[in-house]
Amino acid sequence: MPVSDYLVTIGLEVHCQIKTETKMFCSCKAGFGYEPNTNVCPTCLGMPGALPVLNEFAIERTVLTGMMLGCSTPPVSKWDRKNYFYADMPKNYQTSQLDLPLCIGGEVPLYAWAYPANSKEAAGAEGAVVRKVKLDHIHLEEDAAKLTHYGNYSLVDYNRGGTPLMEIVSAPDLTSPDETYAYLKSLQQILICGGISDADMEKGQMRCDVNVSLRPKGQKELGAKIEMKNINSMSAARRALVYEIARQADELDRGIAQVQSTRRWDDDMGESIVMRTKENAHDYRYHTCPDLIPVQTASIVEKVKSEMPELPDALHARLIAEYALPVADANTLVGDVELCRYFEAAAAASKAPRKVANWIINNLSATLSAREISIAECPLSPQTLAALVGIIEEGIVSTNQAKEVQDVLWENPGMDATAAAASLGYKKTDAGALDGVVDKVIAENQDVVERVKAGNLKLLNALTGMVMKASNPKPNPKMVTEILTAKLGL
Ligand SMILES: [Zn+2]
Repeated sequence: MPVSDYLVTIGLEVHCQIKTETKMFCSCKAGFGYEPNTNVCPTCLGMPGALPVLNEFAIERTVLTGMMLGCSTPPVSKWDRKNYFYADMPKNYQTSQLDLPLCIGGEVPLYAWAYPANSKEAAGAEGAVVRKVKLDHIHLEEDAAKLTHYGNYSLVDYNRGGTPLMEIVSAPDLTSPDETYAYLKSLQQILICGGISDADMEKGQMRCDVNVSLRPKGQKELGAKIEMKNINSMSAARRALVYEIARQADELDRGIAQVQSTRRWDDDMGESIVMRTKENAHDYRYHTCPDLIPVQTASIVEKVKSEMPELPDALHARLIAEYALPVADANTLVGDVELCRYFEAAAAASKAPRKVANWIINNLSATLSAREISIAECPLSPQTLAALVGIIEEGIVSTNQAKEVQDVLWENPGMDATAAAASLGYKKTDAGALDGVVDKVIAENQDVVERVKAGNLKLLNALTGMVMKASNPKPNPKMVTEILTAKLGL
């Protein structure tokens, strides 16, 4: 039977590195870009007798994440050991949380703008939140070290070992690959807004395990859960699910029962390969960590309350209300928090925030991507950008001329926008001086003028061009056309 006759149930486990100075249980530096195995100590290398000390800030960030997602925090949260032997885990156990995690319940809102561009699922949605996906819990643990595999050997970098890792576990409450994409995107935006993590999937700061099961419509009991581990992009998660749903439906059609198992998604090959079957919590022999006392959460919850950030849907509503931005522009800015901060700084220095947003989204972003730099590296300050839009508004330059001015400012970031325009021969048009040039062009091109008057308005551009050519400094073409229109009585 067709795939659409099956009910699809998807659950997600998202691992997210928390932005902290130090590791979870020792004072080694956390973060990227260091020489391998330089940020290590007896504790994160699992030396006998080395004892852990909790990173309070990582706990606060986890509780704050829970607060942003409407979770509750139990009065006491404790630590457990998840036992397994692997080269990336020198202690032979991972310190994690099993039955008393820091956050319980909660929901992830699926934002309308977070769905894939070609998805029809959010079409017609009213408001910013299409629906909310239930969470099971969020717990805090430590990341494993990083293994790099070469031909017949592997190297391990323990710098990552022991860095704080938050695991956000959803209920089996998602129903499609598009929703899964929107879930990851929405969650990423929330984590960035809260300053919890940069959540860059390419850098492995956010990774996900996806599980999916199918059952015939009408059947209450969920089908066998099949998990795909370590998926490292939103589009890969979507592709993996499309493939896996079709694969399971095909096997069920042919009477092949599904078995709970873990598969590996190979994004290059576009297929999933079985790794192991049947793996349950008891396989890991979880037990309470004897080295760490449980955390009493009341004072942390109280402290974090005052740190609640503006969430993406509130930001979206504010961009529209405060700056009168079109919905599409608000969607773009909410999707890129850094760009949005830049916009708000520029808007504060401008009388035309809507035009500022338009310029940032359509011109500045294109320039940034052409030059392969991020908004953080943009040489134009938000104030300079506001001034650039300002000289368009004042009629000193046209939109096209402003692009040339932007290039000048790019090379001379400290320059005044008006001065940069003047260096290209663009000055505020003196209507009186322009009058004379317009009169001259009209007098010398009577044939064209007659045809314009007879209705060939396209030729108005030709007349504008002639005035532009005959003027120095270069006037604003829009103004020239306006004077021509008035003089010709059009
Ligand atoms: Zn350490």
